[in-house]
Amino acid sequence: MSSRPRGLALLALLALVPPAPASAFVCLRTQGDSGPCLRWVQGGAVLKSFLGVPPNVPLINGTLSWDQNAINAANDWNAVGIAFHLDPRVGGDFFDPCGPRGAGHVCHNTGPAGDNPIHFVDSACGGGFGDIVAATTNCFDAASGAMLNAPVFVNRNVDWNAYDGPIRVVNTRVVHDLRRVILHEFGHVLGLDHPDENDQAVVAIMNSRESSVDRLQADDVSGGFSLYPNAPAPSGTNTGCQLVADVATRAWWVLIVPPLLGVMRRRGSPNRRATRSRLP
Ligand SMILES: [Zn+2]
Repeated sequence: MSSRPRGLALLALLALVPPAPASAFVCLRTQGDSGPCLRWVQGGAVLKSFLGVPPNVPLINGTLSWDQNAINAANDWNAVGIAFHLDPRVGGDFFDPCGPRGAGHVCHNTGPAGDNPIHFVDSACGGGFGDIVAATTNCFDAASGAMLNAPVFVNRNVDWNAYDGPIRVVNTRVVHDLRRVILHEFGHVLGLDHPDENDQAVVAIMNSRESSVDRLQADDVSGGFSLYPNAPAPSGTNTGCQLVADVATRAWWVLIVPPLLGVMRRRGSPNRRATRSRLP
């Protein structure tokens, strides 16, 4: 079994966003730019939220718990009509994903097969978050790409709330919107990767950095259908697991709020790279 973590870092985009290429979504693959896409072979997965309730409610968006935002994010994906159902639940038996592969850990740092907890943590199984706000580790069969589980780790040590619209900054500290971050992480749970880290320029929740994008975009929906086609796909939907060859420019990312530069994830940092662990 193999696993690969993906994280989401912060980006504050002041104004312009790039025009969307016809297709830009990218699937997670068993290896590099080749190999099968990671995908669940069954029609759904249970997601167990252990995020709980913050001290001060309601949150900005009116919700009364972190869990509710996880449920809402799952239902956003469910609403697009892909042939896969995220089944969000609150609590349940908790199995710590962290640990070496073996009893109770189908992959290194993932728990039992089919167990997909979403929880706040101080570190991603001992690895520092750096400027990553959340990460998902996909455990999969290295030959087929069949997903086995995908725990979601949420950085406890940044400021959280839940709201729509532009990224908020209070006293130079970013207040992260849990809803959009979880929406992004659930895209990894489904098997999607970051378009912007694969030379794509597209408006998508699946880009690697937080932005004012707070809901699924057309490209995210296309990516979902590429992995879980459910005929007929919406008009204009592009399907097919692919890496698109369009060359992206990063010119759109230059308008960054100066105080936020310090929390942007550094390109090439160890936490950014996908890592895999293989069976001997
Ligand atoms: Zn990500």
